[in-house]
Amino acid sequence: MKLDIIVPCYNENENIILFYDEVQKNLSKFDYRIIFVNDGSRDDTLLRIKELNDDKVKYISFSRNFGKESAIYAGLSYSDADYAIVMDVDLQDPPELIPEMFEYIDEYDIVATRRVSRVGEPKIRSFFARLFYRIINKISDVEIVDGARDFRLMKRDVVESITALNEYNRFSKGIFEWVGFNTKWIEYENIERTKGETSWSFWQLFKYSIEGITSFSVAPLYISTVIGIIFSIISFAAIVFIVVRTLLYGDPVSGWPSTMSIILFMGGIQMVFIGILGQYLAKTYIESKNRPIYIVKEDNFD
Ligand code: UDP
Ligand code: MG
Repeated sequence: MKLDIIVPCYNENENIILFYDEVQKNLSKFDYRIIFVNDGSRDDTLLRIKELNDDKVKYISFSRNFGKESAIYAGLSYSDADYAIVMDVDLQDPPELIPEMFEYIDEYDIVATRRVSRVGEPKIRSFFARLFYRIINKISDVEIVDGARDFRLMKRDVVESITALNEYNRFSKGIFEWVGFNTKWIEYENIERTKGETSWSFWQLFKYSIEGITSFSVAPLYISTVIGIIFSIISFAAIVFIVVRTLLYGDPVSGWPSTMSIILFMGGIQMVFIGILGQYLAKTYIESKNRPIYIVKEDNFD
């Protein structure tokens, strides 16, 4: 039984060795490889990986930063083991959980993890995270569990289904759910990262949520159509009303303020909907270019 541990790394200089030690400590009984995916780090991450000098350590190094989603895809594509695990290098995904995950793998195809607390995370961030999960679960056809991590153990079949989805806009949390199979969820408390800073800014998380929603749902398009129809009906009624009133009573006062308000309001709504339309159009445009999801600069696979 072979296991590949796929670890995306971006500027994780200090964490590589800590992570490697933890894995060695907890997985001595397993026949495993660690596949580090160096996602265009600007520090010495790649050097640290090479210094480990271990046959069990494989690496793929990108030509630039392609993002964690691309790194996961690359790692899974290179994997050929019976089982694959995706995990972060900052030890927020505890390696000591792995033996426990394996207890369920005969019965399930996927053993996934979720955090039950968001201790150590800014309140405002937790609030928006919860809001995001509520929205996406309402309007998309995949169920994304609140607090679900990318940390998961998968059988070969699952890995192959995931790599078969070769879209450019990759929202892993959605893709993992979309492929189906039966999943066992393991819960654990949030752990703060060992070294370094999280590389996600609030703005990036916001973009990530929009990405998630537009990748897995066309509900925003539908909602804008419905609102558009409602407004058309209202305005049609208003036109009839105004025409009839003018014919019966003439036009005693000019209604500049109300006209302006309506124009501005309608203008605003139209801009929002054109924006939504643009999001999808942009996605289609990017997908149609069919660009590679990542570019490898070097690796140590045979
Ligand atoms: N990561 C990556 N590419 C990126 C950003 C992050 O490969 O562009 C990796 C990072 O090295 C880490 C994992 O993704 O192993 C999670 O990143 P981070 O800890 O910054 O995110 P958080 O845990 O705060 O969600
Ligand atoms: Mg982290």
